[in-house]
Amino acid sequence: MSVVVAVRVRPFNSREIGLNSQLCIDMDGGTRTSLLDLNDPKKNKDFFFDYSFWSHDGFELNEDGLAVPVSDRYADQRAVYNQVGQQILDNAWLGYHCCLFAYGQTGAGKSYSMVGYGANKGIVPIACQEIFERIKLNDNPHLEQEVSCSMLEIYNETVQDLLIPVSKRPTGGLKIRQHQSLGFYVDGMSKHPVESYSDIEKIMDTGTQNRTVASTQMNACSSRAHTIIIIQFKQTEEKGDRKYEKLSIINLVDLAGSEKVAKTGATDKRLKEATNINLSLTTLGKVIQALADKEMGKNKNQVIPYRESCLTKILCNALGGNSKTLMICAVSPSNDNYEETLSTLRYADQAKKIKNKATVNESATD
Ligand code: ADP
Ligand code: MG
Repeated sequence: MSVVVAVRVRPFNSREIGLNSQLCIDMDGGTRTSLLDLNDPKKNKDFFFDYSFWSHDGFELNEDGLAVPVSDRYADQRAVYNQVGQQILDNAWLGYHCCLFAYGQTGAGKSYSMVGYGANKGIVPIACQEIFERIKLNDNPHLEQEVSCSMLEIYNETVQDLLIPVSKRPTGGLKIRQHQSLGFYVDGMSKHPVESYSDIEKIMDTGTQNRTVASTQMNACSSRAHTIIIIQFKQTEEKGDRKYEKLSIINLVDLAGSEKVAKTGATDKRLKEATNINLSLTTLGKVIQALADKEMGKNKNQVIPYRESCLTKILCNALGGNSKTLMICAVSPSNDNYEETLSTLRYADQAKKIKNKATVNESATD
């Protein structure tokens, strides 16, 4: 099963409006996304992905600040959830590991799609709400369903547990270790059982406040870190005198901005940061490239460089392994960001070639 790839384009921001920016993205509402060359239409570039979400215009904000569609073309948060988020839960229920990651330059709309802002809740909160709605519908007295969550941040190649208070965190962060059969895991990561949406909401608010945030010239509040929310969904069913356990691990990843270092104006002390952030993102790129090559029959024997960064170790299963994986690529609508958008679309084009081998994670216990 291939990695499912979606592209989403946001409205102009105030900076772009101030600059009188030109729109350089077009979508046909299906699978085509075109990057327009405003000087020479012959140089327009067409890309095809599983989904293209037009969130550039065609909406109005209601009194709560909720974006309400006024055109069929506009994809609101619900529409994105229905097409991308829902299938994560469907797969989790069947016992598959799942991964969703958001990729794109700072300010392109990764966090808007993943967590959302204000009334415009993103895929993560809607999915969490939905998990408990679905659990409520379970009328099988022999089936027990348990949810727990964890939250990690990778910053400067250091993994921190966002749900452990800063004062109690190990200096140097948590170590990633490798288990012979289970693969990579984060040693000492806290797991928090949750029984309702409000439980999970509280935990995620705590985690979000514990994040490391530094400003760059591109976006004053941008996070230079990768944030990973991990939801474990365990189903235990009694059949006769045996118990069957199905486990699904859902990784929800809001990646750091993919822009080139130069554009963010990173210098000196930020440079190390930027280089290390890029180590995880660059390695993710290399892993995607290597997996895509493999699928295309090129360099069949090359070692996939998972071990070269924290991010790729943690996401090892999600990439070319046992996972149903989706990627949402956020892009700016503006011609000023043409190069970054082109690089995001090319990245997405590689990602869609990856094939995973997802299997149901079921085991019998006594
Ligand atoms: P990123 O996480 O990629 O750095 P954000 O998600 O924080 O970017 O988005 C930057 C700004 O653009 C935010 O103010 C956000 O509200 C706005 N934005 C992003 N995507 C959309 C969208 N689809 N619709 C409306 N506003 C959006
Ligand atoms: Mg963000």
